[in-house]
Amino acid sequence: MPALWLAQLLCPNRHAICALAYDIEETPAADVEAKLQAVIHARVGGLDPWCGLCGSRTLHIEHRKLPTDDWEEMTEALRAVERANLATREFMHRSRN
Ligand SMILES: [Zn+2]
Repeated sequence: MPALWLAQLLCPNRHAICALAYDIEETPAADVEAKLQAVIHARVGGLDPWCGLCGSRTLHIEHRKLPTDDWEEMTEALRAVERANLATREFMHRSRN
């Protein structure tokens, strides 16, 4: 039975720069942290290694249990959050120009 967790790369104001959902029964938390660090260092997807909202370069990784262990249900919920965050990022980007 999966046990779903979320690892987030956060600034001190808790703005999420990047997140990965994982099954802790299959993937150790340390492996997920290494993947998040690799994403940031390689700037995958044009990701900046700092917070685009407050500018902080002090980032930390936080793990938390997700409310369900159903991958399908959780994927749908996380995709909805992702869409909302992308819309906010686009709005912030346009506001600066
Ligand atoms: Zn921030």
